Amino acid sequence: MVALFVLDPALLTPAGAPRVAFLYRTLRSLAADLGEHGGALLVRHGDPTRVVPEVVGEAGASVVHVSADFNPYGRARDQAVEKALGALPSGEIPLVRTGSPYAIAPGRVAKADGEPFKVYTPFFRAWKSHGWRDPAPAVAGHVDWHRKLEGVDIPADPPLPSGLTLPEAGEDAARRAWRVYREEQLATYADDRDRPDLDRTSRMSVYLKWGCIHPRTMLADLGADDETFRKEIAWREFYANVVYHWPASAREYFLPQLATMAYASAESTAFIAWQEGRTGYPMVDAGMRQLLAQGWLHNRVRMIVASFLVKDLHIEWMHGARHFMKHLVDGDLASNQHGWQWTAGTGTDAAPYFRVFNPVTQGQKFDPRGDYVRRWVPELAEIEGEAVHEPWTLADPPRDYPGPIVDHKQERQVALARYQQTRG
Ligand code: FAD
Repeated sequence: MVALFVLDPALLTPAGAPRVAFLYRTLRSLAADLGEHGGALLVRHGDPTRVVPEVVGEAGASVVHVSADFNPYGRARDQAVEKALGALPSGEIPLVRTGSPYAIAPGRVAKADGEPFKVYTPFFRAWKSHGWRDPAPAVAGHVDWHRKLEGVDIPADPPLPSGLTLPEAGEDAARRAWRVYREEQLATYADDRDRPDLDRTSRMSVYLKWGCIHPRTMLADLGADDETFRKEIAWREFYANVVYHWPASAREYFLPQLATMAYASAESTAFIAWQEGRTGYPMVDAGMRQLLAQGWLHNRVRMIVASFLVKDLHIEWMHGARHFMKHLVDGDLASNQHGWQWTAGTGTDAAPYFRVFNPVTQGQKFDPRGDYVRRWVPELAEIEGEAVHEPWTLADPPRDYPGPIVDHKQERQVALARYQQTRG
């Protein structure tokens, strides 16, 4: 047995430093875990279509197992590796897709007529009634490790943006985080999950993204009362299905009729102010600063900041999606691009375009005491209670915090007018 990880420049180059660092830490943890069981992790660098056949030749392997990938690049890459293994001069070596990072592999759950789902709720029902296998048991017995192959060292972490802290990487850390969450907070998930100030979501997205835990492990721990949490796991599976069936939707509009809408240029000071958390809207700025500081953002706030970019600043969703992918440690093509398209009103189940989040009332509703804003925007730390959501209404507004860069009411009208234009 050889445990191989190929560092693929095609994926590493566009990934931001937070994701690359978390990947390297996860690999170091995996290498240590395998070492404890008498094994080793072989790491090579390069194009997998070249590297995998090379390792097969060196090890004398008779079969290659991978965890199936369902993103456009990963699917094409695995097909190319399969082809290369099929054409080896020493004879054909099969590529076996053993499992996937999902409870049910994308493509399996379909409507009665075999068509894929475009809407989440019926997908969820079909997904749940399809069911999934139990988590794989730990390997028992002897593994015959091939330990003689030369690999490269797992590289040192790239320099991280200053002030960024990452969660602990690896399977042990993921299992521990899940156990603590289950014991201490899962019971209040349905009530509190929309409250960034309370911070009571699981933060398991990072571990799911990097395969430190499998969704079946988490699903097996859920009871009948945990339906809300099960539904969130199903959103991840739903979006993976959508990208499997409509791969172009990872880059382009899922609803093509909205692709013609007029937008503002992303080459603007407004876009930079959004990225840096200096829009003058406290809930938006708190979110954008949390993203830079933790490489993670609460779901409600992802929606608020995304809506602000698309409908208050009129900048196309893909610019925001790209910024998220650069900074999120859980950055996942399917969930991210479709989370953005949902908010932009251009995706599956999309919030209708005319639903424009008001960043002030969203703050008042989901951060009612203002604790979340004060945590992330130190310039506003002295303002008490919910007044923190509208600092411009104070008699003496803080001087080091910007005023709103746009007028929400006015921009809402502009967004609606842009939408009307696409409807002819
Ligand atoms: P919890 O609330 O504890 O949920 C448990 C798990 O369910 C999550 O870990 C996640 O795997 C899944 N989940 C929950 N909500 C969603 C959802 N709306 N869509 C898909 N899966 C969900 N999620 C990512 O994993 N990666 C991304 O790159 C990503 N980008 C997003 C961008 C935008 C604009 C939006 C609106 C949402 C995005 N999401 C993304 C979905 C969601 O915001 C995160 O999964 C969630 O905030 C992660 O925090 P958590 O683990 O504490 O979630």
